[in-house]
Amino acid sequence: MDYYSKQISNLIGALSSLPGIGSKTAQRLAFHVLSMPSDKVHDLADALTCARDNVRYCSQCMTLTDGDTCPICADDRRNHNQIMVVENPRDLAAYEKTGRYKGVYHVLHGAVSPLNGVGPGDIKLKELMTRLSRLSEKESADAEVIVATSSDLEGETTAMYISKLIKPTGIKITRIASGVPVGGDIEYIDEVTLLRALEGRTEL
Ligand code: ZN
Repeated sequence: MDYYSKQISNLIGALSSLPGIGSKTAQRLAFHVLSMPSDKVHDLADALTCARDNVRYCSQCMTLTDGDTCPICADDRRNHNQIMVVENPRDLAAYEKTGRYKGVYHVLHGAVSPLNGVGPGDIKLKELMTRLSRLSEKESADAEVIVATSSDLEGETTAMYISKLIKPTGIKITRIASGVPVGGDIEYIDEVTLLRALEGRTEL
């Protein structure tokens, strides 16, 4: 990109490092940024750095949040004994959009994938087990872990792994129904299908 001066090339390079942004889009975005009022560009830069510096894992469910606990974990009206295990914060958002799930979540940040070298230690499974071990006897008896990982190979492998870990604890464990299309990413599935999958869940 020699035909652009260094700082323009740097901007295009930085933008094109983002997922889904090819070099053409990066150039279009770069020139858009350069045509924006200076204060708007500063606001954009601030939003990027503030989010990056302050967003961390929720101490309970491991989703991304900017406080110690996320708004869902901090909400007393939710059923804290019903824990839905999802692969990422986007899946959590998909279930929240249905407005019908009243439990809480646990976000794994990935799925077990031996082919891609992702083992159980690489996702937030240990955190789930620690969380469950802190439940009182009565809470354990009332608890339900709903495994809502994808229905692709990685999601199923992860579900089987979680089931093996949780079974010995005696805590009830269920799996969402396979109404979710095979290989379908949960975040792209419509709300009706998600609700049907949730309602049709079966014990593992
Ligand atoms: Zn949380």
